[in-house]
Amino acid sequence: MDPFKFISTTAPCGVPVHVRTVRTPQTKGWLVIKILIHAGAYLDQIPGTAHFLEHMHGRGFRGHETAEDVQEVYNGLFTRTMCGYVFTEGTKFQAKIKIESIWDALDCLHNIIFYPIFSQDSFIMEKGVIGQELWKHLGNPINIKVTQQMLQDIYGDSIWSNLFITGGLPEDLSRISLDDLVAFKDQHYHLQNMEIIFAGDVGVKKACQYADYFAKDAPTGEKSSRMPVMKDSWPAPSRRELRISVSEKLGVSKSHIKSSLLGIRRPLPKLQNIEVLNILGNIINELTFGLVRTELAGSYSITHKVSINFDHTAFRLSVVMRPDILEKVSSEVQKIFNDFRNTEGLRLLFERKKQLSRNEYAMKDCNLLAVTEHAFLNLLLFDQGIATLAEIQEQIDLVTFEDVCELMEQEIAPYAHWLYQTP
Ligand SMILES: [Zn+2]
Repeated sequence: MDPFKFISTTAPCGVPVHVRTVRTPQTKGWLVIKILIHAGAYLDQIPGTAHFLEHMHGRGFRGHETAEDVQEVYNGLFTRTMCGYVFTEGTKFQAKIKIESIWDALDCLHNIIFYPIFSQDSFIMEKGVIGQELWKHLGNPINIKVTQQMLQDIYGDSIWSNLFITGGLPEDLSRISLDDLVAFKDQHYHLQNMEIIFAGDVGVKKACQYADYFAKDAPTGEKSSRMPVMKDSWPAPSRRELRISVSEKLGVSKSHIKSSLLGIRRPLPKLQNIEVLNILGNIINELTFGLVRTELAGSYSITHKVSINFDHTAFRLSVVMRPDILEKVSSEVQKIFNDFRNTEGLRLLFERKKQLSRNEYAMKDCNLLAVTEHAFLNLLLFDQGIATLAEIQEQIDLVTFEDVCELMEQEIAPYAHWLYQTP
């Protein structure tokens, strides 16, 4: 059975429902429910509003109005798996639930989403929590400035220049009022913006009953607008390179700053076959890793990320290293980018990465949370329903060596934006 094969239907209440029945000894008596709200950070009037609202349920909701009550429910009914998360494009609430307590759990989910407690006290308390979270997440203030500058260079005045931190910046947080949260909820948290995903010991008929029970007497409203779609290719960045000295910017001694960073970014139009970029990213990752580690004996930390947003995909690579090897690493990576096709052993590496991609997807098999997350991201980011494992593997199989080389030569190498961050 294909792990990603969902059955999609519409419950009598009008909410789209997506069901993956998994009946194994491990899933007996359990299900994961994930509620997708098509309203995310892109709808913020003040950056951070959607994220702030998502936080409020932890302070209390109808029927469980104190933080202690909430903790009790989360630890018991929701087996400590309850969480909310805000993306640029949308919001999710999810939990793993024992079917014997499903009705109580649905009542709670209903109240969490539609009836959080909006008291001035809990608002102020939660503002403190989010302030800490931003402080931890954003870290060094230079990172914010550099990222803002880089995004301006690449995206110009586009909406993408402003959406890099879904939680907003600290200065935004102080501008958000309790009324803004209420307004956001009233406008966007209603049935016409929702879809529900189920996986586990549940069939389609039962899932629809659960959806109807969750939706009973819930607010309705106008569908919120989706992210703007940019039909044309992304322009070349206005500046190809950004060089920043952190110590200069922060006004501190160079010796306090221990590492350098090479960051490469290229936004792309939405690709026909995203697996081409996935495989290319994996290849570059390994080549860069080999380079920094074995040839230059540098301390390293490399992340590559292929991000998919509503209307585009993007390639990102960051390499953190000892400052003295930055220029060397950069020139070697430039060589890889400019003469990619002729990299030694590339064909073999390509075949290996392709096989690896296939296996990675296959391993997601029986984990209920992973299966629902796959469905969630498909529904959030694509408009073609939920891809099955067979369909994904077919896409992977279709990727040729030539596709990967062409993507690099025609789209990435000539237009990538290079960031050099030095002490
Ligand atoms: Zn948060």
